[in-house]
Amino acid sequence: MSVVTIVRLGVFFGVFAVIVLWERGLPMRALVAPRWRRWATNWAISIIDAVMVRLLFGAAAVGAAADAAGAGWGLFNRLDWPGWAAFVASFLALDFAIWLQHLVFHKVPVLWRLHRVHHADRDLDVTTAIRFHPVEIALSMCLKIGLVYALGAPVAAVIAFEVVLNGMAMFNHGNVRMPAGLERALRLVLVTPDMHRVHHSVDRAEHDANYGFNLSVWDRLFGTYVSQPALGHRGMTIGLPGCQDDGPTQLGWSLSFPLRR
Ligand SMILES: [Zn+2]
Ligand SMILES: [Zn+2]
Repeated sequence: MSVVTIVRLGVFFGVFAVIVLWERGLPMRALVAPRWRRWATNWAISIIDAVMVRLLFGAAAVGAAADAAGAGWGLFNRLDWPGWAAFVASFLALDFAIWLQHLVFHKVPVLWRLHRVHHADRDLDVTTAIRFHPVEIALSMCLKIGLVYALGAPVAAVIAFEVVLNGMAMFNHGNVRMPAGLERALRLVLVTPDMHRVHHSVDRAEHDANYGFNLSVWDRLFGTYVSQPALGHRGMTIGLPGCQDDGPTQLGWSLSFPLRR
């Protein structure tokens, strides 16, 4: 196992454990769906995703960055920027691209069919962060690999971005509370759990907002920022209208959901 894989897995399970403990100690909402069935399904989807990425993409985005560096391809392998500047610019470009991709997955009907599997979860907790349909993951991997080649992003920037994105996704899907002052300060820069919870509202006007996963700046800049859910964090309904039964907790239902009206 490579050092990068060990770091990734370590951060993943470390952050996962911290958020689970936080959810137990200071939960924001009472969960509505059967927890273990939901968890089993969300984990199963995530394992299918991981195996699919491994089989189809091998070294994926990090491999693409190493390949581009070796061949001298892409913007930052041509420009003579200092290493730190290429790192920061690549990180920001990747974060903006993920924001834009998320918005496109909401606006294009065939892509929304895939992405709504994520939104069908009737509760929001750390396992929602790993609930993405395998076809959405595959498409997003293709885009990311293309972008990494075009940018000539440094290998370190791609690794850092993927590790941070993974950790931040678990953080901002967490069913957690924190002091209001801390939350307000954090969301000036980062996407907080309260900010992302708005994005999981059944109300389309609310779930077509707050597309960011890491930095909150993109939503503020492009007018897609919604500060709070109209019905409050405990009064709002999470999930999709018409999917408020046990369907989303089942693996078969979730994987075949893109094919249904
Ligand atoms: Zn979304
Ligand atoms: Zn989400």
